[in-house]
Amino acid sequence: AAGVNFCKLNEIPVTVIGDNIPQPIKSFADAGIQQFVLDNIGRSGYEVPTSIQKNAIPIVSAGRDLMACAQTGSGKTAAFLIPIINALLSDEQELSVGRPHVLIISPTRELVTQIYYEAKKFAAGSYLKCCQIYGGTVSSHQSANLGRGCHILVATPGRLLDFVDRSYIDFRGIRFAVLDEADRMLDMGFQESVEKIMNHPTMVPTGTRQTLMFSATFAEDVKTLAAKYLHEYLFLTIGVVGG
Ligand code: ADP
Ligand code: MG
Repeated sequence: AAGVNFCKLNEIPVTVIGDNIPQPIKSFADAGIQQFVLDNIGRSGYEVPTSIQKNAIPIVSAGRDLMACAQTGSGKTAAFLIPIINALLSDEQELSVGRPHVLIISPTRELVTQIYYEAKKFAAGSYLKCCQIYGGTVSSHQSANLGRGCHILVATPGRLLDFVDRSYIDFRGIRFAVLDEADRMLDMGFQESVEKIMNHPTMVPTGTRQTLMFSATFAEDVKTLAAKYLHEYLFLTIGVVGG
């Protein structure tokens, strides 16, 4: 595989490894993001993309699987939400609302809620419905919301499996699967749950869905997870990432 180093003096080093690497973008408008989404990005106060966004957005928009490592606070959430929402809204027809098309798994309720609100901001004014599910509270409110339809589902692994077991959710419609904060997810003991989700009989297979993994570090267990669930993926690191 070819390795490209975009490192410049006084800049954070950026490394992308893999074949056919798309060029990084300089502004959100360079990425072929439609005006509707650009307006929502502007309204959320984002003027220029962060380094991870400059590199990850064209990769996701090109339909590639991605393993991306960058430190906390670097803007990973928008790096996947913007190209995903843009892709869904680029379809000629409205997507069915009966089962999720996008699954985003994140380890904590706080992170799930942050991603959910960010997804709602970028999808605001469109037909897309976002739902969040997490443990630690009664699930009836969350399942009622799901029952009203969901295109983009943001979930913690445990509660998600609980809903899958009760047949509230299946993964037949998944076009994008995102494993956010993969290192924390594994540190918190969610490996088995994540594997059950990704290996679920209803899950759209690797290579047919697009799979994205984000992590602050690239430890052995994260590498193993990436090797299992990503297909011909690009490996992007921003800054110096510990293993
Ligand atoms: P990470 O997941 O890498 O820890 P987040 O996606 O949570 O980072 O983003 C960290 C903070 O930076 C959030 O408050 C987010 O709203 C803000 N942010 C992200 N991208 C941009 C941008 N392009 N311009 C301005 N603020 C941004
Ligand atoms: Mg994050």
